[in-house]
Amino acid sequence: MDVAEKAQTIEAKIKQAAERSGRSAEQIQVVAVTKYVSNERAIEAVQAGYRHLGENRLEGLLEKQEYLQGKATWHFIGSLQSRKVKDVINKIDYLHSLDRISLAKEIQKRAEKKVRCFIQVNVSGEGQKHGIEPEKVLDFIEQLSKYDKIVIEGLMTMAPNTKDEEIIRKCFHDLAQIQNQIHTRQMPNAPCKELSMGMSNDYEIAIEEGSTFIRIGTALVGE
Ligand SMILES: *Cc1c(COP(=O)(O)O)cnc(C)c1O
Repeated sequence: MDVAEKAQTIEAKIKQAAERSGRSAEQIQVVAVTKYVSNERAIEAVQAGYRHLGENRLEGLLEKQEYLQGKATWHFIGSLQSRKVKDVINKIDYLHSLDRISLAKEIQKRAEKKVRCFIQVNVSGEGQKHGIEPEKVLDFIEQLSKYDKIVIEGLMTMAPNTKDEEIIRKCFHDLAQIQNQIHTRQMPNAPCKELSMGMSNDYEIAIEEGSTFIRIGTALVGE
């Protein structure tokens, strides 16, 4: 199936999920994750109307950017090694994986303008996952206030790898609660209005729980 066909199915599901939870589909931004696919397939996504693209490796990002020649807004979605910050940070529009002070320091040093960041939170507490613990998010944001290159747009998480919908839902629900608490505080460095959650297998649940950025790879552009 081409991307446009897959997109029709996804857009219909987004709309339904939004309606079920009293939201509008316009509140939800799709990040088309092109990390597994060819340049041609990424172009297809752009032609199908997707302007927000996501990559998780420097090499993939550079290659797609060269091919697409400024036609997209770029999201870096994977864990970012500090030593790669200098090569990545001025080429992206959003970073979804801020999870440690050492990374923030390096961003502060290398960024030429403010960087829109999501803090990656390990809501489910799975050991090998990246992300900071839910109880530490507020303290982390307070520590970030001295880095004026970093703006906390919102929070990001990955749900546990399970078929149990209630476990997934609880993970998204908990992240939305933390995001709301932080947003309410009106911290100057953290408007924290956004929620980056939901992938191919769980984006409908994420939308029902308030997601504003869903990151879809497999279901949209293929593996
Ligand atoms: C790969 C990836 C996605 C997309 O995953 P799919 O299941 O293919 O939709 C989303 N978010 C992150 C952080 C990823 O690494």
